[in-house]
This record gives sequence, C-alpha cells and structure tokens, in this order.
Amino acid sequence: MSYTVLVFVKQVPDTQNITGDAMTPQGTVNRAALPAIFNPEDLNALELALQLKDRYGAKVVVGTMGPPNAAEVLRASLYRGADECVLLTDRAFAGADTLATSYALSCCVRKVGKVDLVLCGRQAIDGDTAQVGPQLAEKLGWPQICYVEEVKDLTPEKITAQRAIEGGYEVLTSPLPALLTVIDSNDPRPMAARRIMRCKHAMTRSEVAKAHADQNYADSTSIDEDIESLRAKNLLIHEYTAADVNAEVSRIGLAGSPTKVKNIMSVVLTGGEAKSVDPTPAGVSELIHELISDHTLG
Ligand SMILES: Cc1cc2nc3c(=O)[nH]c(=O)nc-3n(C[C@H](O)[C@H](O)[C@H](O)COP(=O)(O)OP(=O)(O)OC[C@H]3O[C@@H](n4cnc5c(N)ncnc54)[C@H](O)[C@@H]3O)c2cc1C
Repeated sequence: MSYTVLVFVKQVPDTQNITGDAMTPQGTVNRAALPAIFNPEDLNALELALQLKDRYGAKVVVGTMGPPNAAEVLRASLYRGADECVLLTDRAFAGADTLATSYALSCCVRKVGKVDLVLCGRQAIDGDTAQVGPQLAEKLGWPQICYVEEVKDLTPEKITAQRAIEGGYEVLTSPLPALLTVIDSNDPRPMAARRIMRCKHAMTRSEVAKAHADQNYADSTSIDEDIESLRAKNLLIHEYTAADVNAEVSRIGLAGSPTKVKNIMSVVLTGGEAKSVDPTPAGVSELIHELISDHTLG
C-alpha cells in the first residue's frame, strides 16, 4: 500500500530580522516586506514524511497557506524530496488567526482527498501558538499525536509513534487517518542538487501567467500550454483559492478570526541601571519585595 502523507509547512518572517514595515495599515502582518524562511519544525515534519516514504512507500504532498511568494517553501520542499505541492493563496485568507488558519487547512485536506496522515510542525516561530495542528485535527475529526519525535510503525490501519513528554516519552498507537505534530527530533535532509535543477522550474498557475506578462516566456507557447507541460512533468504547483477549496468566507482571514494581531515589533533588550543585592536573606527578601511591588513577579 502507498500512503498519502500531507505535510503543512509555513513560510515565516525571519524573526531575527523584523523591520519597521512589519505591519500593514489594516493591522495584518506585512509578510511580503519581511525576509521569509522555512519554519524550522516544519522541516522536521517534512523529514519525517520523507522517512515514511523511504520506509513504507508514500506520496508526500506539501501544502502551505500564504501569499503567492510562499511558493518558495514549496519549491524548497520539492528540492528535498516532496512529490507534489499545494499553495492555498487568496486575499480572503489574509490576517487569519489560528482558528481561521486551521479551518482553511481543513478545507485543503478535503480538497486533496484520500489523505492517510497529516503532519504539521509543533510550532511556528512567528505566531508561536502551537495551536494550528491540534485545531486542524479537531476540524477533521481525526485523532492526533502531538510532540512526535519518531514513528515506530505504520500499517494501513494504524500508526505507532513516540512523543516527547515532560521527563520522558510516551508511545501511542492511533487509527488512521491521523494528524501528527512533529518536534525538532531529526536531521532534515539537505536539498538535492539533481532535484533543484529539475524542480526550480516548478511553478503555480499565477507564476506562469506573471512570467508571460513579464515576457520572460517566448510567446511561442500559451499560458495553458505551459501549464499543461508543467503538469506533464509533475512540476505544476497546485494553486487553490478560497472558492477552490469550498471555504466559507466568513470563517477565513480577518473575517473568521476572533484574535487580531495588534502589532509586532522587535524587542531589543537594553541594559538598564544595575543594582547589587546583598547575598543575605535580608538582601534577597528586599529584592523579592521590590520585584513584586513593580509587578515583575506575581
Ligand atoms: C506575533 C504573532 C502573534 C500571534 N498571536 C496569535 C494568537 O495569539 N492567536 C491566534 O489565533 N493567532 C495569532 N497569530 C496569528 C497566527 O500566526 C496565524 O494564525 C498563523 O497562521 C497560525 O498560527 P501560528 O503562527 O501560531 O502557528 P502554529 O500553530 O504555531 O503552527 C503550527 C503548525 O501549523 C502549520 N501551519 C501554521 N500556519 C500555517 C500556514 N499558514 N500554512 C500551512 N501550515 C501552517 C505548520 O505545520 C506549523 O508548524 C499571531 C501572529 C503573529 C505574527
């Protein structure tokens, strides 16, 4: 049996490099303005999916919800060994909180169809909520195993995985289909030069249209002809709008988000005035009272 493993990855702002124009006037994160990277734990989720492909035979599909340039993390996934990619992109998805994001991703899972396993990273380094994976499992009505560090066994009926818990680990077995969130527990394989040479031509429909508009493509071929040739070479990145995945507009983007991100900024810790504390019980108790009175503690 060949399994279908769908890995959700996120293109995140490089939080080491938050610039002044991080927010749009509408109060959403200005992702196009920020240097973007592959969310680290999603590389671990992709690596686990590729290991399952090597061990049990699987088709690895990678999906992301984001602006058009999020296709970059999909190409980076193809360079590492993914088989197919899906870009969920539509202005209607912008400003989504985790509730709206997980709903949109659940619509994507249903659109892809016949999925045996969904893998997510434990957490994204920008929102940092670790909520999307568990929320997505709930929306799919699937069992979930979180904080996975290793898959022990996979059969057409069930999966056995080891997950990290405080002070140790747990081995759980779940029926399929199931959702796993993966922690930093493996060494993501590097991008393969041979795959880069082939898959750097992978494009979405919009990118093909833009290339034609920018006259990068000789007019000898039409947009549809180029898309068909990409599809034939398995280099077409599937591009879905909210309508393509039958998403209810009231449940996605800002409209579907009870949580609004007010502002993000770089927190630069600067040294303030220093104060020495007597290493005596009285000195320590004075310090604790001071920290409580200025609400640093308690
Ligand atoms: C600074 C900041 C604070 C935020 N705080 C909140 C908050 O408190 N509550 C809230 O609801 N929203 C919050 N958001 C919005 C939140 O970032 C988005 O909803 C985001 O799409 C998902 O949440 P997350 O980044 O915390 O992801 P997490 O829940 O940490 O992501 C877990 C995993 O889900 C998958 N995933 C997440 N987003 C995507 C995506 N777009 N495409 C594909 N896979 C994905 C990835 O596998 C990822 O590893 C915040 C955003 C920012 C920038």
